[in-house]
Amino acid sequence: MRDYLMLINRESAPVAHVPGEREQLVPVGGTGVLLERQAAYALELLMERIDGWNRIVPVSGWRSGEEQRRIWDESLRENGMEFTKTYVALPGHSEHESGLAIDLGLKKETIDFIRPDFPYDGICGTFRECAPDYGFIERYPGGKEAVTGIGHEPWHFRYIGTPHARILTDAGLTLEEYTAYRMPERGRGA
Ligand SMILES: [Zn+2]
Repeated sequence: MRDYLMLINRESAPVAHVPGEREQLVPVGGTGVLLERQAAYALELLMERIDGWNRIVPVSGWRSGEEQRRIWDESLRENGMEFTKTYVALPGHSEHESGLAIDLGLKKETIDFIRPDFPYDGICGTFRECAPDYGFIERYPGGKEAVTGIGHEPWHFRYIGTPHARILTDAGLTLEEYTAYRMPERGRGA
C-alpha cells in the first residue's frame, strides 16, 4: 500500500515518482491532468459534491521528473532564482512527481500555470471547507513558509487520505509538523 502521508520537501524526497507507477495514474476533471488513482477518485467525489468542475480547473497534477526540471529551468529564466525557489520545488523534490498533488485554478480566460488564482471565498472557499473530509490538505499555507520551505500557495493541494487530512487541518499543522508529531507513535511496538 502507498504511504499517503509520505513527506516530500527540500530535505526529504522518498520519491514516489517511481517509473512503473504510471499505470496508477488517472485523468481528472475530464482533462489530461493526471493524479494517482486513489487521490483522483477522492477528488472526483469531492468535486461532484460541490459541483466544482463547473468553476474550477485542474491546472497541474502529476509531473515526470523531466517535466519538473523543465518547469524549474523555465521559471529560472523567466522569473529568477528568488521567485523560483519560492514557488517551484526542486526537480526530484516536488509533490507533483508523486501524483498526490494538484494545483487548482478558478476557471477563467487566462490561467497562470505557476500561480493560478484560487481564492478563499466562493466555490474555492467551499472546496477548502470540504477538501479535508476527502483527504486533501492545503499544503503550503501562509505563515508556515519557514516550515515547508515553499511560499504561500493557495492553489496547491496534497492528498494524504482520511482521517489525517481533517485532523491536520483542524490542528492547523503542516505535513512537516504532523508527520514529526506522529513519528514516536509509528516507532512504538515496532
Ligand atoms: Zn503545485
